[in-house]
Amino acid sequence: MTGVEDWDVVVVGAGPAGSTAALGALTADPSLRVLLLDRADFPRDKSCGDGIAPHVLDVLAEVGAGDVVDDWTPLWELELAHGPARVGGRMRRPVHVVPREVFDARLVERAVAAGAELRRHRVSTLVPDAAGVLVDGTYRAGVVVGADGDRSMVRELLLGSRREPRALAIRGYAPVTPELAGRQVIRYGDRRQPSYAWAFDRGDGLANVGYGELLPGMQKGRAPSRRLLLDQLERLIPGVAAAGDRWRGHHLPLSGWRWDQPDGPLLLVGDAAGLVNPMTGEGIYYAVATGISAGRRAAAAVRSGRPHGAGASHRHAVRRLLGTHLKHTWTASRLARSPRLVDAGIRAAARDRTTFDTLVELGLGDGRITPRLASGLLASLTTSRSRPT
Ligand SMILES: Cc1cc2nc3c(=O)[nH]c(=O)nc-3n(C[C@H](O)[C@H](O)[C@H](O)COP(=O)(O)OP(=O)(O)OC[C@H]3O[C@@H](n4cnc5c(N)ncnc54)[C@H](O)[C@@H]3O)c2cc1C
Repeated sequence: MTGVEDWDVVVVGAGPAGSTAALGALTADPSLRVLLLDRADFPRDKSCGDGIAPHVLDVLAEVGAGDVVDDWTPLWELELAHGPARVGGRMRRPVHVVPREVFDARLVERAVAAGAELRRHRVSTLVPDAAGVLVDGTYRAGVVVGADGDRSMVRELLLGSRREPRALAIRGYAPVTPELAGRQVIRYGDRRQPSYAWAFDRGDGLANVGYGELLPGMQKGRAPSRRLLLDQLERLIPGVAAAGDRWRGHHLPLSGWRWDQPDGPLLLVGDAAGLVNPMTGEGIYYAVATGISAGRRAAAAVRSGRPHGAGASHRHAVRRLLGTHLKHTWTASRLARSPRLVDAGIRAAARDRTTFDTLVELGLGDGRITPRLASGLLASLTTSRSRPT
């Protein structure tokens, strides 16, 4: 075919999942031809809490990018509250709060420095054939990585329009007040759980602030309006909605009990793969972990001349990496739909530092529901039942 460019790997979307897929492929084999396509120019903003869990940096270190936020202030303190139930404390490892405008652009720079070619291009058609995939009739790729976010066209092509549970959240930036300084503050609301307001100190005088909640399923009610989201934020963390600006809303495709990836040369990563923690709304760790893994699998499949084997290999790798954890977070998110269980979890974490650490691991990384967390929950529930009202 004339005018068609040949690439080993084409990555659709250059958010954290896409840039790390490029990095994963090029670290595995620097001689690969990797094309990174995004409909936006970088730097670009993305609605997010900007919370970079330490697990993100662990995985980035595997592709030489563990230092990407070294010049931002680490944040050690976490407060979790639901009404009067409250726990605060120092996490075992810090998070970083880095605007996505900065974080994503830095990862793209790393991918380009590793040899990826970045182009601004909105992908609209993908046609798999015996040799791989034809992208918009213009690029031929052995393997395509779909990293095109929560409204992924790659996902739609592979899995149809089936939709996982989704949340909706709004984010802004507000000046840090003494009450919010040096902390990650999370305050649960009383609407569809998970529903919570947050304020994360960036360390530069501004806090990332926002509020999100679970969306009603199809035909089960209306999505909350922007006004309602901001009112909830103001109610839970007074002052920040009035002081904030740069508001931006976005959907979060929450992960379920079982994660799927079809066979073939099209791979899904990050939000496009429906991977956002259903307890906390964290998705960057999953995005970089699945991005790097997909890049490596794509590289191996191209090198062995069997691009169609990439899908199965990516599926097995992600299930090994996250399969059990996803079942545990799904279970935890179901339990957290009950406000009593949210309170019980907070009280168990307030009594026991190990339980606090376990909740942090479950919410930010790849932790599990441990027997100690389960018995702490039970103990909290029993105490609250026996307490006079
Ligand atoms: C309000 C809010 C708060 C959040 N807070 C946190 C948090 O604090 N910590 C955390 O870990 N996670 C958080 N998340 C989740 C996190 O933002 C996502 O999980 C993360 O952005 C996923 O990265 P990604 O690379 O998969 O997708 P994205 O970052 O969405 O990147 C997708 C890219 O694909 C491009 N694209 C889309 N369609 C096409 C196309 N057809 N052709 C070419 N390019 C295309 C887009 O321009 C975009 O650059 C939050 C989400 C929201 C909405």
